Amino acid sequence: MPQSKDILAWYDRHARDMPWRVSPADRRAGKRPDPYAVWLSEVMLQQTTVAAVRGYFHRFTLRWPTVSDLAAAEDTQVMAEWAGLGYYARARNLLKCARTVVADYGGRFPDSADKLADLPGIGPYTAAAIAAIAFDRPATVVDGNVERVMARLFDVVTPLPTAKRELTQLAEALTPQDRPGDYAQAVMDLGATICTPRNPACGICPWRAPCQARAAGTAPDLPRKLPKKAKPVRVGYAYVGRRADGAWLLERRPDSGLLGGMLGWPGSEWSEVQPDRNQPLPADWQMLGEEARHTFTHFHLRLKVLIAELPIDAKPDRGHFVPRHEFRPADLPTAMRKVFDLARSGFAAEDAGTVEDTGHG
Ligand code: SF4
Repeated sequence: MPQSKDILAWYDRHARDMPWRVSPADRRAGKRPDPYAVWLSEVMLQQTTVAAVRGYFHRFTLRWPTVSDLAAAEDTQVMAEWAGLGYYARARNLLKCARTVVADYGGRFPDSADKLADLPGIGPYTAAAIAAIAFDRPATVVDGNVERVMARLFDVVTPLPTAKRELTQLAEALTPQDRPGDYAQAVMDLGATICTPRNPACGICPWRAPCQARAAGTAPDLPRKLPKKAKPVRVGYAYVGRRADGAWLLERRPDSGLLGGMLGWPGSEWSEVQPDRNQPLPADWQMLGEEARHTFTHFHLRLKVLIAELPIDAKPDRGHFVPRHEFRPADLPTAMRKVFDLARSGFAAEDAGTVEDTGHG
């Protein structure tokens, strides 16, 4: 039977260094994790890698060092700082959560998984992770890494998602009362560095002796997964207009829906059949030969990009002009930044007289 003490001893030697983490040695010396940092990192880490999150975490905590600072931030500033991390509903919930913690809890995160799970944007996984890591509660934290480790330790061949309940129960049975926060992080680290999806390094694993999949030789094939459905393709149009003074025509997307509240280029609906073009104003729109492509969780997006030089007195039906010196491409969500990258090369080619006029104005 795997023992938590074995993985904790391994964690004491090999814990990964992360800006939001208190090392096992510091923890023993009495240092407590900052719940704000733990919460922020956990929300950022949902479906994103540690490497991708470090820079964002650093910028957020520099700009908003406490949950009260974040709660007082302008929505647009937070959305812009989040740009590129994806899943923008999360950024909106991040703000809602910060404001709820300030309004209902005086700026201190509640310390139980149940109360944490009532806060906006905190699901059962994140609630358990914060309760364990920030408050050392024996909450069972089950993410993809933990599911993989459990499936292998106990040679569970039932495919995911059917196996979720069984894997959660196995994880619960292993969660110790002693150092549950370090234990949760230890299993995460094991899954990320040793018990990896393709080539588990069983030879150096602290749980190699009790691991049933290692003994059976099934580890690289676990966990099994039911085949995923292919993602549909949605298509649409994006309009990148540059006014004579260099200002860009942008539009803030509605709060609800995909990329809600984010800055973007005016355009059409995104749908599986060709949508109406829905141009923001009549102009000499020229379609670029290349499409902007981006993959979201549930579909692939292909956007036809149209560019136009707009007169200084242009009156678009929607959107607003952002002066050239105020426009930061990094504030755009990734799909919109890809549109801009293509458009920019289109304008450069147009300046050089090489863009074909497709007459779609
Ligand atoms: S022995 Fe191998 S398969 Fe088993 S938990 Fe360790 S790394 Fe994973």
